[in-house]
Amino acid sequence: MKIEVLGGYGGESLGCRMTCLLINDRIALDAGSLSQALSIERQVQVRSILLTHSHMDHTSSIPFFIENVFSRAERNIDIYTSSATVYAIRKYLFNNATWPDFTRLPNHLLPAVRFHELKDEVPFELGGVRFTPIPVDHLVPTQGFLIQQDGKAVLWSSDTGPTQRLWEVANETANLKAICIDVSFSNDLQHIADVSFHLTPRTLERELEKLDKKVPILLHHLKPPCIDAIRAEVKRLNNPDIDFLEQGKVYEF
Ligand SMILES: [Zn+2]
Ligand SMILES: [Zn+2]
Repeated sequence: MKIEVLGGYGGESLGCRMTCLLINDRIALDAGSLSQALSIERQVQVRSILLTHSHMDHTSSIPFFIENVFSRAERNIDIYTSSATVYAIRKYLFNNATWPDFTRLPNHLLPAVRFHELKDEVPFELGGVRFTPIPVDHLVPTQGFLIQQDGKAVLWSSDTGPTQRLWEVANETANLKAICIDVSFSNDLQHIADVSFHLTPRTLERELEKLDKKVPILLHHLKPPCIDAIRAEVKRLNNPDIDFLEQGKVYEF
């Protein structure tokens, strides 16, 4: 399984793109930077988008991506997400005020975008990759994903504060190659992390006590102003299993 990190951050700044993974060149997991990170030629290859939740740092490139590809695509773009996120995207993004409703354009019979609703813990397959949505704890309904192909698994937390089911799934899953987990704020902003349901290095350390196996931990969703402080605080945890998910890197699992 090939995972390319198009955007690895929870905010945008010079050199920091917002959350977006590209799986096997065809499937986007979140869409914070799909149009910024890829050439038009590569965008046209992307046929499916999985959304973990409705927040802008995970959805903001959808309007521009669709505009870039819809006239060139042979068929519609499929967006897979929870019913709560479908509701939010319809109401707040494709509402004809923020952006045209591409679920009814060019016409309602052959729209540019189709939604497919995902239920917690009901796996589905896309291009030979099996995705299982895992509920996590964030400000809005949010699903992380267990991603499996050829007997190997990667667990993607999406945005989450302290959570339970994600760690149970990690402990139950054989051949888990990596857990990618949110660390958004430095410890001095613990109160902000708590009220916005994100982790800091301090709460990450507590969360890792729920894990009963040795697995590489890759941190993502750092807020750009916190990067240096988070890196210093994570270094002090002195845990050799922890590393940072690297934007621009192609991971082969
Ligand atoms: Zn986010
Ligand atoms: Zn969020």
